[in-house]
Amino acid sequence: MNKLHLVMSQISQKPNELTIRSQLKSGDEIEDLSRIFDSMLDRIEDYSNQQSRFISDVSHELRTPLAVVEGHLNMLRRWGKDDPIILEESLEASHEETKRMTLMIQDMLDLVRLQTNKDQFKGEVADLREVVSAVVTNFSLLHPEATIEQLGQLGQPGISFYRPHLEQVVTILLDNAVKYSQGEAYIQVFLFEQDGRPCLSVRDRGIGIGEEELEHIFKRFYRTDQSRTKLTTQGGLGIGLSILSQLAKIYEAEIDVQSQPGLGTTFILKFLPA
Ligand code: ADP
Repeated sequence: MNKLHLVMSQISQKPNELTIRSQLKSGDEIEDLSRIFDSMLDRIEDYSNQQSRFISDVSHELRTPLAVVEGHLNMLRRWGKDDPIILEESLEASHEETKRMTLMIQDMLDLVRLQTNKDQFKGEVADLREVVSAVVTNFSLLHPEATIEQLGQLGQPGISFYRPHLEQVVTILLDNAVKYSQGEAYIQVFLFEQDGRPCLSVRDRGIGIGEEELEHIFKRFYRTDQSRTKLTTQGGLGIGLSILSQLAKIYEAEIDVQSQPGLGTTFILKFLPA
């Protein structure tokens, strides 16, 4: 009991020191208590590390757009006010960066909410066929330049998912398929069943993703080299797929990606039937 007591008082004196563990091997119920206590500390330490990483990622990502806006404001203050071309360019660029920051903050809040409210959505059911049709219809209206073909059938379209989250998933995939297409987007959305599980695939003929980059695309703020250099104006933030993978984890859906640079990408999601 003494060591457990000692660890507890050490933690209460230094609440930021989360690496201390009791690790008692007394062979009785005190050892059980010590194990529970240590595993609770593991989770708190993990959570705390996650939060720190999140804060440092966020500050890092906000630094660039803020520096751009500051640069433009400085330029305007010095001589841009009297030069209509500089005035117009700087206002436009600052407005774009502000919009990016707003989007980024909204996406990051969504991520945090998801991480903290995970259990709230268990037991929700959505109709995959219906949601996909609705999102594709809306998306086609917003992106008349893209051709989106909807194929396949589902015997049992009910899946374990909260409808707004499913809409978000389909939107993220379609959004990327359009963003990373070269020229006119041609996208195929396919519904099918595999091993008794309803599946959705979204296939584009876009720029593709290199093999060595595939394992990173679900990380927060990750963007492939090609999308950074070629498509920066398209406002990629590197958050969509990280939200998608969080959602997949919550609803126990599996994600598979197949891609060939220059030829296109297919994202496949395998859901839990309701
Ligand atoms: P972003 O907002 O940058 O699109 P995502 O998290 O949705 O962020 O995607 C992360 C990165 O993965 C993208 O920046 C892009 O490099 C790559 N990516 C995602 N979807 C596709 C796709 N359909 N085709 C090619 N690259 C993609």
